[in-house]
Amino acid sequence: MADFRPGTPDQDALLEALIEAGHLVPSGVPGVYGRGHDYEDVRHRFDAYVTRVAAEAGERPEVLRFPPVLPRQQIEDLGYLENFPHLAGSVFAFEGKELDARAMAETAGAHGDWSGHLHQTDLCLTPAVCYPVYPAIARRGTLPAGGVTIDPGGSYAFRHEPSGDPARLQMFHMRELVRIAEPEVVQSWRDQWRDRALQLLRHLGLDADFDVANDPFFGRSGRMMAASQREQSLKFEILVQIAGDEPTAIASFNYHQDHFTAIYGIDTADGGRAHTACLGFGHERIVLALLKTHGLDVASWPADVRSHLWV
Ligand code: ATP
Ligand code: ZN
Ligand code: MG
Repeated sequence: MADFRPGTPDQDALLEALIEAGHLVPSGVPGVYGRGHDYEDVRHRFDAYVTRVAAEAGERPEVLRFPPVLPRQQIEDLGYLENFPHLAGSVFAFEGKELDARAMAETAGAHGDWSGHLHQTDLCLTPAVCYPVYPAIARRGTLPAGGVTIDPGGSYAFRHEPSGDPARLQMFHMRELVRIAEPEVVQSWRDQWRDRALQLLRHLGLDADFDVANDPFFGRSGRMMAASQREQSLKFEILVQIAGDEPTAIASFNYHQDHFTAIYGIDTADGGRAHTACLGFGHERIVLALLKTHGLDVASWPADVRSHLWV
């Protein structure tokens, strides 16, 4: 298996306990799990909590929803394969004739490699929930005064990073919010949300802190990209100790400058180039952090914690 990262002993133990308790259902592939009732209930309640906190802060984001596949051209336009080739997933499908189909089925029946029978389609798996937002907004032309705030929801993201860590999945939900506006507006929105998110996670009894971070850029030139991202504080993460040697990022707050707006040509009402920022709450990681902190029996979580979710 490609680049499998085994879990640490405490990650293995946590994963086993989660499966035993019915929170996770193993699929046989690391990082791909079914989810039990309580796990899913908390996940949805957390998502609703974020929506409430946003509304209380006076935010009225426009709801847009997208499927978890992305046109391949978008992955290409974004330079995703330059930065994160190791994480990408692309969809291949069969387009052959009967003879070829039979050969493919035979190989597959013996669990051999049947990839040679497939052709690349127009689709990739969405690696970040905000990606479809930028071309969608670009299609509308120049931004309205004040820019836009978009709520693309808590949707699936795929990353090819098979791991034994129950917090590192290949398919997971990311609740994002996206701001597209003038550079200063976008930056202060990102910082406000970082602080607001830290608070809302601490209200859930999580021992959370934020720190400057970087994306896992690929290769040697990637190390330089990562260093420059940190230097400019373009990415913050909120971290919690769940299991393993390092704390886990349960949310991130990203200032992209003009990365997306230059590619798609998004301008502000007064004609300047817009900037973008996004935040992403890792749904599964947050549920995991809550289960680890308050115990696997959701009904016996502290009343104060429950009061924010069971409203
Ligand atoms: P990490 O440093 O742990 O790899 P990341 O920097 O790749 O995380 P982002 O790209 O900022 O994460 O994704 C937004 C959020 O999605 C993260 O803060 C995290 O909570 C969650 N997330 C990212 N990768 C995974 C994964 N493999 N499994 C589960 N949740 C994830
Ligand atoms: Zn994003
Ligand atoms: Mg990552």
